[in-house]
Amino acid sequence: MALDAADAMPGHRVVLAGCLLLLVGLFAMLVASTQLRPGEQRPVEVVGDSAGPFGEAARTVQLRFDLPPTERSQGRWALWFPREPVVDLHLTRDDGWRSEVRDFFRVGEDEGMFPNGYGFVLPADWEGPVQLDVRYAGMLQTNIAPVLARAGDVRRIERSGVALSAALYGALLALATLALALAYASRDRLFLGFFGVVFALVLLLQAANGHLYGLPAGRLFAYWGVQGMAALALLYAAAVQGLIEAYAMPRGHRGARATRAITVALVLLAAVCLLNLGAVAPLAWPLTVLGWIASGVASLAMLFDATRRGVRLAAWVLAAAALALVGGLWMALVRLGLTTDIALLHFAYQGTLVAFVFGLGLALISRIGDYRDQRDRDRLARLDTERKMQRERARANLTTALQTQLNGLDPGELPWQGFRLLMDHLLPLVPHESCVAVLRGYQGRDHLLVEPADALPAIEHEIQRRGLILRRQATAGIALQQPVQASSGGPVVAMEALVPLQVRAPGWAVLLLRRAGGEGFTTEEMSVIGELLRLVQLQVDQAATAVKLRRSAEIDALTGTMNRRTLDLWVERTFADAERTGRPVSVLFVDLDHFKSVNDRYGHACGDDCLRAVSTALRSVLSEADMFGRYGGEEFIAVLPGHDGAEARAIGERMRTAVENVEVRHEGQRVRLTVSIGIATRQPGEQAPAEAIARADKALYAAKRQGRNCVQVAPAIFS
Ligand code: GH3
Ligand code: MG
Ligand code: MG
Repeated sequence: MALDAADAMPGHRVVLAGCLLLLVGLFAMLVASTQLRPGEQRPVEVVGDSAGPFGEAARTVQLRFDLPPTERSQGRWALWFPREPVVDLHLTRDDGWRSEVRDFFRVGEDEGMFPNGYGFVLPADWEGPVQLDVRYAGMLQTNIAPVLARAGDVRRIERSGVALSAALYGALLALATLALALAYASRDRLFLGFFGVVFALVLLLQAANGHLYGLPAGRLFAYWGVQGMAALALLYAAAVQGLIEAYAMPRGHRGARATRAITVALVLLAAVCLLNLGAVAPLAWPLTVLGWIASGVASLAMLFDATRRGVRLAAWVLAAAALALVGGLWMALVRLGLTTDIALLHFAYQGTLVAFVFGLGLALISRIGDYRDQRDRDRLARLDTERKMQRERARANLTTALQTQLNGLDPGELPWQGFRLLMDHLLPLVPHESCVAVLRGYQGRDHLLVEPADALPAIEHEIQRRGLILRRQATAGIALQQPVQASSGGPVVAMEALVPLQVRAPGWAVLLLRRAGGEGFTTEEMSVIGELLRLVQLQVDQAATAVKLRRSAEIDALTGTMNRRTLDLWVERTFADAERTGRPVSVLFVDLDHFKSVNDRYGHACGDDCLRAVSTALRSVLSEADMFGRYGGEEFIAVLPGHDGAEARAIGERMRTAVENVEVRHEGQRVRLTVSIGIATRQPGEQAPAEAIARADKALYAAKRQGRNCVQVAPAIFS
């Protein structure tokens, strides 16, 4: 059940929009605080082309203003210029007065941290109309827009500028830290890329605002001057484009080549800028603008495509990117002198860039929701596989256990053993409090298995009470669950799974599993129970059939005694044993007297009854150690290990008498039978029974000749 993160947070779009509005408002407030309050500045007339053409080396602009008389308490006047990328900026006056020199790439010791502009405090004794020359040089188009105000107010402008810059960088650095933490937590390289973007943006903004060069390590960066700024702008564009590609472009997209080419071109251009070749300097900024346009178009195209495909938050990132691109390009064009500076855009482009990275960050973070969904799906799939494997293992284990433990059991015992094994194997797979197998007439017997065993008396009573309903449910053949109540109408204390077995009528069988509480069994568990139950039934039935088959091969179908094949086998074994131990063995050959006439008089069916009755009577005389079977037709053989001829004769007599006492009833008549018995004892050295049997046969023949219904023992050697 993977929850969509967007669905999990109701109204998240509204929350997001609210947060962004708040951020924009905060930013606008900070920008506004850097402006002077009206009425505190004096107008300054700027004479000459303050916006000199791009690439010109040295420029001069004339300033004209009027200074009212100053009272001590009001402080001195100061001129303040926004910090544009110029070098060698200084003021001169005809009378030889000369201000200190300011430089964008060299932050003076007295300028403090994050200076927002260039401030010049004017001499205290200046009054009335003043004319000054502003001299400076610079590679980029710059706007000389002086502010004439009290030195204290200028310091205030500076301070609020510091606050604005610190807030901006602080926010970005916090975002960069967050990106690192997310990269670590999500193990997604995308967040490392995001860290790269944010870090590049901090450097770019610090360079563009002239703050980088005031920092200890940043001072080195001044070496590259404007080309360094261009290189940073290009690297930033490359980083953004790479990240957007990873975020928005599906794997194997055909546009990947084009965007990759642009990224490589941006990095190469940045590398060229960092060579700091004098010839490249005038080209660095125009090329940067071109690079931004190319990567901007590519990024917007990727984001547009992602929006179409419904990638989370892509539309927001698209809007933010478009805004940032317009802002950034506007500033770049201003620096090229291709468009005029607008006060709002002058600051706002930084705001749009920051808003864009925040938007991008949000979009990336929202991907964590995707990971979670994916992980949930993976975990469910893994659980499913594990469950399947566990089920398969249990099946295999149960099959092995059934095959080994059902082997050689009496058919009547098979269900008991089979269901015992089922219960053992079911418990870990389908946890339950109790398990009952009610088997009626299954494999010819009734069984009641109860687990745990000490519940047997109570269960027995309960099954008896539910007997009729249970039987109906079992014969309906549908597995179901039903609540178990402590008393009728009372609360539900457990759920009972009832799974019937397919048993030949009038037998019926059902498995009852009970689990405390009202939760019951899952569909999966019900299916597992059914599956293992069918497995047990299959194995029990197979084992029973196998036993029956084996027996039918060994046993005479009519009398249920050994058949000739089995007899031969056993006699042979007994003779081999006797040879080894030296103990005597006697063979008794029994034949019914005038049996043909029984068949003739009473019919074959009656003859069969007689055969069964005689067989039972003969067998009853013998002990467990003796072997007895039907040798064919109406002839039987008994093999008596450990008995010599005399003992065998006594036993033979008892057998004969036993048959004499048999009385078979047929259609109101009493059929009486007799047998003749021939006996032979194994001679020393006789390995095979054939000769002994032949002698017994001869003795039997002698008995018949003697008048039947008697016993004859064969002499050691027949004459
Ligand atoms: P005797 O005393 O000489 O043995 O006489 P008899 O009639 O028993 O002769 P004999 O042993 O040759 O006859 C075997 C008879 O047993 C022939 C057959 O009708 C009968 N018989 C053999 N097998 C079966 C059987 O499976 N069922 C029935 N009802 N009769 C059988
Ligand atoms: Mg015979
Ligand atoms: Mg006979």
